[in-house]
Amino acid sequence: MDRKIPVLFKEKKECCGCTACYAICSQMAISMIEDEEGFEYPQIDEKKCIKCYQCLKVCPFKET
Ligand code: SF4
Ligand code: SF4
Repeated sequence: MDRKIPVLFKEKKECCGCTACYAICSQMAISMIEDEEGFEYPQIDEKKCIKCYQCLKVCPFKET
């Protein structure tokens, strides 16, 4: 079964822009991109991502 590229957030309210995912990614696959209001949100480069899901593990919004 193929793993999918992780979805860090579906809506912007599910991301506080803490950059933890950006910091943890060993592949430098995540960039923080400013939106029209000047808030930075992570964006995954699908070509660099190895689907290790470390970014999901570290995200404070995805603790289970
Ligand atoms: S799954 Fe791994 S490689 Fe892909 S963006 Fe997250 S931390 Fe980076
Ligand atoms: S770790 Fe979660 S809350 Fe923090 S920037 Fe990444 S997606 Fe947003």
